[in-house]
Amino acid sequence: MPSAAQYYREPRITLLARPTFTEPDHLPVSWLGESTDGERLAEFAGRLCYMSQRNPAGRNTRDYLENIKKQGHGSVLEHANYSLLVEGVSRSLTHELVRHRAGFAYSQLSQRYVDESDAAFVVPPAVIGDESLEGAWRSQVDSALASYVGLVEQLMTLYGWVADRVHRRKMAREAARGVLPNSTETKIVITGNARAWRTMLELRSSEGAELEIRRMAVAVIRLLVAEAPAFFSDFEIYDAEDRREAARIGYHKV
Ligand SMILES: Cc1cc2nc3c(=O)[nH]c(=O)nc-3n(C[C@H](O)[C@H](O)[C@H](O)COP(=O)(O)OP(=O)(O)OC[C@H]3O[C@@H](n4cnc5c(N)ncnc54)[C@H](O)[C@@H]3O)c2cc1C
Repeated sequence: MPSAAQYYREPRITLLARPTFTEPDHLPVSWLGESTDGERLAEFAGRLCYMSQRNPAGRNTRDYLENIKKQGHGSVLEHANYSLLVEGVSRSLTHELVRHRAGFAYSQLSQRYVDESDAAFVVPPAVIGDESLEGAWRSQVDSALASYVGLVEQLMTLYGWVADRVHRRKMAREAARGVLPNSTETKIVITGNARAWRTMLELRSSEGAELEIRRMAVAVIRLLVAEAPAFFSDFEIYDAEDRREAARIGYHKV
């Protein structure tokens, strides 16, 4: 029997990687103001286009990048990549997430290689706080998990003729996972450039987005605004009419 399942009520997001910028000695920039490596990398790339390293307009990095966003010259934002580890999200969330292709790379937990007998589940935001709904939902996912465990066992017997045990387990799990619900928790590493993150976050933090991915998008916006304000600070997080957080962007699709 599986041990008691774990239930997630919010995503866990960890920054794994950010850009490192090394200024070339032969092309120094007259930097002004506070900035991070990622922001400097984008400014450096932008200034190279016009060879304006002397900074004739006397702009600090954040004003320079504000102007880049305003002008829609978003391609320089593509030099700065940020990698996040996202856990405590459902398979239905990642199914939507991976539709965002341009500028993103993904690596996700495999349900063929990883045993899901101890899978965790993500409580749908709409159900959180309603005891009766949450209880009904929990009994459904618990029963799905029990079915999964039973099926893996039966399939291991069915595939007894497969000599390679690792392969046999993979064959059993890939068939048995069919009974696992969309709420099954998954883990994913996402690398995206700042322009790609902006486009995805604009779509997924809006009021029209599904609640779980919207909650994740708002959390990612908070993390990235703190990490690199020049790229992300035109996002405004607000309480929407549906009493959940949403965000709107200042500069659409740079
Ligand atoms: C609220 C909401 C509801 C949705 N509902 C559904 C649904 O019911 N069914 C469904 O299937 N999907 C649905 N989607 C997913 C949606 O159709 C897109 O697949 C998803 O939003 C990714 O958008 P994108 O293609 O712009 O992103 P990306 O792939 O990240 O692309 C970013 C941008 O790059 C450019 N680009 C990328 N690839 C190409 C290309 N091949 N050719 C030309 N330009 C390109 C485009 O300008 C694009 O906007 C929904 C999305 C949202 C936000």
